[in-house]
Amino acid sequence: MARKLTVATCSLAGCFGCHMSLLDIDERLAALTERVAFDRSPLTDIKRVSDGVDLGLIEGGVCNEENVETLREFRRQCRVLVAVGACALTGGVPALRNRFSAEACLAEAYGGGATLAAPLRPGDPELPRLLDKVYPVHELVAVDYCLPGCPPPADAFWELLTALLDGREPRLDYALRRFD
Ligand code: SF4
Repeated sequence: MARKLTVATCSLAGCFGCHMSLLDIDERLAALTERVAFDRSPLTDIKRVSDGVDLGLIEGGVCNEENVETLREFRRQCRVLVAVGACALTGGVPALRNRFSAEACLAEAYGGGATLAAPLRPGDPELPRLLDKVYPVHELVAVDYCLPGCPPPADAFWELLTALLDGREPRLDYALRRFD
């Protein structure tokens, strides 16, 4: 029997909408499991990526120090890395904070503004520190493919996965690489 393609998926600063869109390939998931073995992923609840995974799909921008560590480890372990969705490609919605300093964002969220009666900033040293801004993944690691969209359509995931399984370049027609 042919070896299965190993696939890991991971989310940084995102909303998991891209993962939901992957699940939208619906009943084709059953066919996929004949040829694909999922490694680290919310789909398997495996927390750490194994050595030498064939394909990694990463969703979300890079907003804190933990994201940086996770992304670098994920890149090291995945032979082919795909940046999935607007947040991974550009920072997306989380990058709306880039117009302000991290300190100003923390002050607004926890400093007793419109939603808090008194300042209540979380101080646990285990909480990852915010970066100065939200970065797209390609600014920190090399990326092999991009799937644009918010989220990319399910058929774009299907085309990418089946192309890599068949050993051909993915053909992402206009409908599959929209940016809205
Ligand atoms: Fe969510 Fe859109 Fe970002 Fe994907 S690209 S994580 S769907 S906000």
